[in-house]
Amino acid sequence: MPPLVQVEKLTKEYSAVRALDQVTLSIDAGEWIAIMGPSGSGKTTLINILGGLDKPSSGSAVVDGTDVATLDERSLTSYRAEKIGFVFQQFHLVPYLTALENVMLAQYFHSMTDESGAREALRRVGLADRVTHLPAQLSGGEQQRVAIARALINHPRLILADEPTGNLDEANEQLVVNLLRELHAEGHTILVVTHDPSIGRLAGRRVELAHGRLAQITVFSAEDEERFDHLLERIWIANEEGSKALIEPSHTLGLLDPAVMLRKMAELQLVELSDSAVILTARGEGRARGVIRRHRLAERLFRDTFAMADPEMDSQACRFEHIISPELDEKICTFLGHPKTCPHGNPIPPGPCCPA
Ligand code: ADP
Ligand code: MG
Repeated sequence: MPPLVQVEKLTKEYSAVRALDQVTLSIDAGEWIAIMGPSGSGKTTLINILGGLDKPSSGSAVVDGTDVATLDERSLTSYRAEKIGFVFQQFHLVPYLTALENVMLAQYFHSMTDESGAREALRRVGLADRVTHLPAQLSGGEQQRVAIARALINHPRLILADEPTGNLDEANEQLVVNLLRELHAEGHTILVVTHDPSIGRLAGRRVELAHGRLAQITVFSAEDEERFDHLLERIWIANEEGSKALIEPSHTLGLLDPAVMLRKMAELQLVELSDSAVILTARGEGRARGVIRRHRLAERLFRDTFAMADPEMDSQACRFEHIISPELDEKICTFLGHPKTCPHGNPIPPGPCCPA
């Protein structure tokens, strides 16, 4: 089977700015891929070209057999209607239409009107009891879910989501992320632009753009991700103890190939390798803080509520730190009364739930 999306040497220039520079990429049907990268790196430009909202300067972008670069305005409109479901950071709902009408408007665009289909799409995103609400009467997360219902109405071959959680608080972000998960599990092909690493990690594959170029294609197994967490934890603890984490293969956790792990982590911009020491980047530090926090909260929980003793507690916490979701983290922390230290007296980095 040919890939659903095949992008070859795609370049987009806006006068002097080269927003995309010879990007080559393919996406299989059913994949969930995350496009990551700093602001201005060309993510929106790529998604807009794939969605037929913008035209490339050169190169080709074939989606489900159609080369979007060759389409005129009229064919682009029907291409968008037939193949693409868009979800934007700004939800782009029509303010004076109800949720149901907003979805039906999309149906109109797709030359069909079927109120029961629109109701079903809203039910699908958990908004069966919000159909007559106007956008202003809905929370951000609910508005984004209306937008997702609208994107799904034509059973698109490709769902394009540009920073879909960029304007949402954490609880609503979780709702939208769960929805993306479900859609992927149902077999939808999803391309999501995000600069949130925790959302990027959910995707099957991550692609980094930097200055319009594809910096890397990253595929890491859950096992590798756990090893990264483990190593980040070690570096954090070394720093806490006032020393630098040294690159010493024999010391590096008994990993099969620590040098490879560290290189991958440097690629992911989690660490910087300098002389013989490993230094956490801001991104790495944020992730390390989260792992340490989950580990130490788990230890507190096991000691305080199950009276678990040291070696057992530590190994359980090691497993637990990978399982705890952000909500569970906050629930445990609140349940324990926002403890400041683990049973060994090491500090637990505060989370969003902790009083300042
Ligand atoms: P991202 O979504 O990664 O933040 P964009 O794709 O929006 O990045 O932009 C990539 C580059 O192209 C930026 O330098 C931006 O200023 C430029 N750019 C994007 N759209 C236009 C436009 N319509 N006209 C001129 N420059 C643009
Ligand atoms: Mg953008």
